[in-house]
Parts: sequence; C-alpha cells; structure tokens
Amino acid sequence: MADAPLDPLLLGQRVVAILETGQRTATYKLALLMALIEHCIENLPERPDDRLTVPIPELAHRVLSIYWRQVRAFEGRDLVQVRGSTGRITEAAKTLRAAAGAANSGLSLEVAMLRAPDAYEQAIEKITVALAKQPLPRLQKLPGAPTSDPFLYDDSLLGEGVTRSRLRAHGDSIVLNAGIAHGLARLAGLLKPALETMWVDDVRRMNRFLDEQVPDVAGHLFGRERIALAAVRGPLKDAFGNDCFYCGATLPPDNPIDHVLPWSLVGIDGLANLVSSCARCNGDKGGALPAVDLVDRSLARNPDVLEQIASDLTWPTQRERVVAAARGLYRGQPSGVPTWAGFKQSKRLDIAFPPSWL
Ligand SMILES: [Zn+2]
Repeated sequence: MADAPLDPLLLGQRVVAILETGQRTATYKLALLMALIEHCIENLPERPDDRLTVPIPELAHRVLSIYWRQVRAFEGRDLVQVRGSTGRITEAAKTLRAAAGAANSGLSLEVAMLRAPDAYEQAIEKITVALAKQPLPRLQKLPGAPTSDPFLYDDSLLGEGVTRSRLRAHGDSIVLNAGIAHGLARLAGLLKPALETMWVDDVRRMNRFLDEQVPDVAGHLFGRERIALAAVRGPLKDAFGNDCFYCGATLPPDNPIDHVLPWSLVGIDGLANLVSSCARCNGDKGGALPAVDLVDRSLARNPDVLEQIASDLTWPTQRERVVAAARGLYRGQPSGVPTWAGFKQSKRLDIAFPPSWL
C-alpha cells in the first residue's frame, strides 16, 4: 500500500497518533523514531517522492548513541527504560560501556568504538536483532489491531521470529515508502522535541523514585549537560582565536562550545560542527536552525587544522556527516523560513544561490 506519497502534515499526525495510542512499555519506539528522523536528515534522497533504503545496523548505531549517555547511573541509580523485563538494547549499551572502561564516565561513543571495536560490533549485532524483533514491527501496530499498518515501511519480515541470518538474507534493511524520508526530515523540528517530551514522561512513570524530587531528567536523557565538550575548548581557541564565532566578542576561559547544526536536531559532536561561542549567542541560538552562511563559514574553516585537533584529541571531525545533515535540514525547508543569523537577528532562508556543499 501507500504508493502515493503521504502529505508531511498527515505523516506527522499519524506518527504522533500511533505513539500516543499505543501503551509504551519501553522507550524503544521513541528511540527508533528519533534514529529514523536523523537518518533521513543525513541521507535525504534527491527527489521528495523517493523511497529510501535504511540499513538496520545504521539505525542500531544511532539508537546506541542515543542510549549511550542515558544508561549512566542517574541520582545514583540505573534508570528503567523497559517495563517488566531486562532491556536488550540498554543492556547492550551497558556492556559496551564496561568493555570500553567507561562505566559512568563522559567518554564519547566514538572513542569507545576505537577502544573496544569488537565489543562495539557485538553491541550493534544485538541491537540490530532487537530492533527487528520488536520496535520496528511494533511501531506501526496499533493496540488491538491484528496486523500492522505499514505506512512508513514494509515490516512483514520482522517480528519476534526473525533471525540474524534471515535479516541478512533480506539485505539487513528496511525501505521507507515513497515520500517518507523527505517527510520525516521536514518534520524533524516538530517531532524531535515532542518525542523527547514523551520520553521524559515515560521515564518518570517507569522510575517511581523520580517522582519524589524534580531532578533534571531531560538533561540526563538528552545531554543538555552535553558530553564533556570541555576538551575541545582550548584547542579550538588556539586554532581559531579567542573570540565568539558568531559575534566576535572576546571569550572568557569557560565559554560554551556551540553546535552549529543544533544538537537537538542532529546531535553531531564532530569538530566540524563545533565552534567557540559566547554564552549570549549560545543561549540566544538555542535549537534554532542557523542561517546558511554561518554553516558555510564554519565549514570553510581549515580542514587540516581541524584534522590535527582531531588526531591530538581522538575526537572525530565528521565533516561529511555535517555536510549531509545540513543538506537534509535545509533542502527540507520551504524558502522564507526564519533562520538564526546572530544574537537577536534572523534571516529568511533563501537558497537561490546555494553554497557548493548545499
Ligand atoms: Zn557571541
């Protein structure tokens, strides 16, 4: 079914409806949707109606990176994210943390992958199968319905009975229906904050001890405290100067590190997406989409210098990922939408003369 592309607004309504109607006994469906949205942004097909093949191991990596920070102890305890059973996905993330010697530390997933490559592969294998058994088929199934409603992708192969070899035999992937990839990328700015809110609610419900106090659950889950970005502060200043990337103000020793493409939309911690910023610009920008010329200016920074910092710190640059995500974010927007152009300034999106990377 669903050969005619779904209108993005209808798509958004259906996604939200399916999440709100289904009793969520785990946060896995939310993680899966976030991973799908990010994948669509970074792999936007050429035409709006194109289908998109999504390798399940790539979704597994994105899901792992979402849970990576979340599985650390919070207020001294492990958070329950699955009701009534051990979470296969969260356990895989914890096992990798242990293997990389990162139990509760701020170590990034990228560094853990370098330290414990075999354990990383095992985690991806486990999560790939776990996704194929439950969240992928369940995402499109309404409570009480005998079969799923495959409006996003065909899930007839997936379910509890699926094996690793059967998945491999079918290309280890799902195929998004016509128009879904563009639709999800366009809706990212609306859907991602809604998914985060649902997630925080679910975790509060599944972890009674959180009712008693009001700790910053959202901060723990979605990295508002961020992973330890402090390590890049000095090297970025040494390389590009001690002033704010956006307004040029001289920076104090403890200035924020800003994600040019917002963390809340694409979550890319690579150096190509990081700049030194003053607290004023960083706070004002928030989760807004930056003006295209700001992204252009950050991408124009000397790649050799960034690579040098990357190798000194064992910290990836992820330039290609930033470029792909920027394409996905801007191409999905109608022209004329406001973008953040500096402290208290906005600029309407106009990609009539796009930079070479767009
Ligand atoms: Zn500034």
